[in-house]
Order: sequence, then structure tokens, then C-alpha cells
Amino acid sequence: MWYTNLGMTMRVAIGGIWHETNTFASTVTTERDFRRYQLAEGEGLHAYAGVRNEIGGFLAAGADAAHGFEVVPTLFAAAVPSGLVERAAYDALKGRLLGRLVDAAADGGPVDGVLLALHGAMVVAGIEDPEADLVAAVRAVVGDVPVVATLDFHANVSPELFESTDALLGYDTYPHVDPYDRAVEAGRLVAAMVERAARPAKSFRKLALVTPPLAQETSVSPMADVTTEMWRREAADGMACITTSPGFAYADVARLGFSVAAYAWSGQAAADEAADAVAQAAWDRRHLFTVDHLDPADAVVQAMAEAAGPVVLVDVADNIGGGSPGDGTVLLAELLARRAQGAVVVVADPEAVAAAVAAGVGATVDLMVGGKIDRRHGDPVPMRATVCSVSAGEYVHSGSYMTGQHVSMGRTAVVRSGGVEVVLTERATMPFDTEQLRSQGIHPEACRIIVAKAAIAWRAAYGQMAVRAIAVNTPGVCTNDLSELGYRNAPVDMVLAPVPA
Ligand SMILES: [Zn+2]
Repeated sequence: MWYTNLGMTMRVAIGGIWHETNTFASTVTTERDFRRYQLAEGEGLHAYAGVRNEIGGFLAAGADAAHGFEVVPTLFAAAVPSGLVERAAYDALKGRLLGRLVDAAADGGPVDGVLLALHGAMVVAGIEDPEADLVAAVRAVVGDVPVVATLDFHANVSPELFESTDALLGYDTYPHVDPYDRAVEAGRLVAAMVERAARPAKSFRKLALVTPPLAQETSVSPMADVTTEMWRREAADGMACITTSPGFAYADVARLGFSVAAYAWSGQAAADEAADAVAQAAWDRRHLFTVDHLDPADAVVQAMAEAAGPVVLVDVADNIGGGSPGDGTVLLAELLARRAQGAVVVVADPEAVAAAVAAGVGATVDLMVGGKIDRRHGDPVPMRATVCSVSAGEYVHSGSYMTGQHVSMGRTAVVRSGGVEVVLTERATMPFDTEQLRSQGIHPEACRIIVAKAAIAWRAAYGQMAVRAIAVNTPGVCTNDLSELGYRNAPVDMVLAPVPA
């Protein structure tokens, strides 16, 4: 407060590069993938005002009447989770972010602090820990000012990233409904560091533990117990914040796994004690991170036997938010073979979209759907279908995940065969909002069966309306059985949370 009263304006740079990289996926992530999902530069970042993502949260913190700051926008880029990021794409985005920082210093003098929206599980060809690389490069420009970063819940945090930042604020929730809140918190924290001319003490614990996403839901034990302990410790006097990052299992990197970062204004002992307590709560439960799932045939039979819907069939291994291609066909084939009624499946397949668009609305068309990116997500499925609709595939998130964020699925065609509707999209799109179906004229609450290509995060869209969710043991690069993955770079002594037989 005294800061603004003195007529001085705190200047805080905001930006970030956000990607969850599945190193087992066969896709390559290019700059076009960032452009197609989220890419804004300079004043363009102000378009996120009111959007409940990290940049929206940074802007809101800056606009705070008492402890706000002048925002210096740099660059924000995010791509849908996918395979290894091309080196040229990362270098280009990083170069432009740094260029904006250099220009800002030249125009208005050095910034007082930096806020970065990072994911924490990005991997670039030739750079295994790009978040640490990016923070080091930012530090080289801004010097020793407070640098605070937000992280996805699935960050594989390295000691280097922890050391190079003044605080890391990861999402507390899975499904992720709090990126905006964590970003507001990060903004307040960086402002407090500047106002106090001080940084909180910090403490980091890394566990040799990796768990599948399906076992990480934060409202369910064991993760609920760990989260409760984190919140209890965080509420103690003198604590700044605590971040628990269970990690992203599908990145074969040395920094793989569970971590805890704790920050305390009241000193090192408090930070150490909090980090130890939360890490211990996770470690004590390491054998409880198990998952229950059914094979595809059993899952479809059980879903069809339910008297009411919607039943959500969770296509775990084709988890688009985990970097899989979104063109898995095992459940689609099973639903068609068993003549399911009221079923809807979204499949990313630009070839099939083109064929449906060429045939036109109302036409009958023979398609080979999905299974084209690689051989790990089922074979292409032959389908004689009616084209129900064709659209540009645009929608805006209206639910709890990144509310207000615009999404483009690319050209989109809805086709129908018997009781099965297939939404064909040009781009793999995470099923985290009901607008994905509503924008295509499909009412999810009226469906009997919805296939969700996700692990847990689909609950942000269909969790309330689902009468039952069945996790299905499908094949793919986001398999539940982590022992199938064959890690080469991850530490050999990792505890892989077991999957029951
Ligand atoms: Zn995540």
C-alpha cells in the first residue's frame, strides 16, 4: 500500500509457455500447435481479462486496488498435450518472450517482478527441463527480482526449477478447477515480495513415486488425504503457500515424480516442517494410488445395462489431456458391434472430417474412423454413417475448467450409425466442457453413454450429470499400467503405484 501511496508503480512482467509433453506419444508438437490453442503476445494478453486461466488470474491480481501492479505483458503460449515439442518451436516462443522483457526494460526500466504460467511437464527435443531453462533465461534478463510461477497439478518439478524461482504455485485440484485462483494467489505473492523487499523461506521434497492420473483425483483418498494435510499446513500462521505436484507419469525424464514445495514467511524451520509433513502424507499412502478398471467389452455391456444415463465410459489410455492422439477406436468399435443406443464418441480424425464434409449433410458415407496416428490406440473402424451436421467446431468454455477460454476443434462433423453418434474433429480436443457436445447440437444429459477421452478431468464437464463412470482398460500411450511404458530416463528406483490384477 505504501508503495502506491509513494506514487511508485510496481511493474510485473507476465507470460509463460505451457505444455504437458507425453514423451511416449508419436506426435511432434510444433509452433502451429501453440498457435491453434493459445498464443498471445504483448497487449494481446489483455484479451484474457475475465478468462479463468492463469493469465486471467495474473491480470486480476494486477488490477487489485490495494496490492495491484502495472502488468508488463510478454508472451503466453499453450498447446494441447501431445508429443515432444520441436526445438525450433520452443526457441522461437522463448525468444519472443525474452524479447518482450528486454523491450519492456528499455522502455520503462527494469521490472520489479515476474509471473510465469508454466505447466511443469514440458519436454523439448534436446532440452529435458525446459521450464528451468526458461526461468534461467528470464533471470538473465531481469536479474534478482522475485520470479513466481504457476504450475499444472501434473508438473514434474525439478530441483533446478524450484531453486531458480521464488515460489511455485501448482493447481491444488484434479480435475483442475483452480488455475485462475492459483494465478491470483501468485500475483498477490509476487506483490507481497516486492512490497516487503523479502522472499519467503522455501523447502523442497522429491519422492521416488509416480502414480497414474486415474489414482490422483483430489476429492478421493489417497490424494484427498494429502491435499487436506497440505491445506491444513498452508493455513498455519506464517506460511506463504504449499504446492503438491503428483507428477505426470507419461514423461520419461529424470525429474519424473511426486514433489512438495513449501514456502514460509516465518522462516526455514516452518517451510521444512510443512514440506516434510505433506511429503510424508503422500509417501505413507504410496501403495494406495491404485486404480480399478474394466476391459472394453465388459465396460460397454455394463454401460448398456444401466437403466438411465449418461454413463461415462472413461477411455483412460486415449487421454487427450495427457497427450494421446484422441483417435482411439476400441470403445467405438465395441459400441457399434453391440448396437448401443444413445452413445456419443468424439474422435479426432481430419481425414474422416474431410470425407464427411465432402459428402454433405444428409448424405450416407463410408468412413474409416480413427486409429490413424499410430498402432497403439486400436485400428481404424469401418462405419457406414449419415452426416448429421458440419460446423467450424468453435466453442467457449462455460463450465468450471478455464471458464471463458475459446477452443477450436477445427472443422467438425457429426455422423450417426444406428444408435451411435460420432463427433469427428480435425484437432484432438480435451473433453473438459459440455460445450464440446452442446456446440454440436448434442445434449449430453440426454445421452445414454458418453465416451470421455480423459482420466479424471472430464468430471469438470460431466461429473454432475453422470449416473455412473466406468474406467476402461483401453490400449494407448496413457495406459494405467505404468510398468508397460518402459522408462529409460526416469530414476530406476521409482515406486510405480501398482495396478490391481
Ligand atoms: Zn494436469
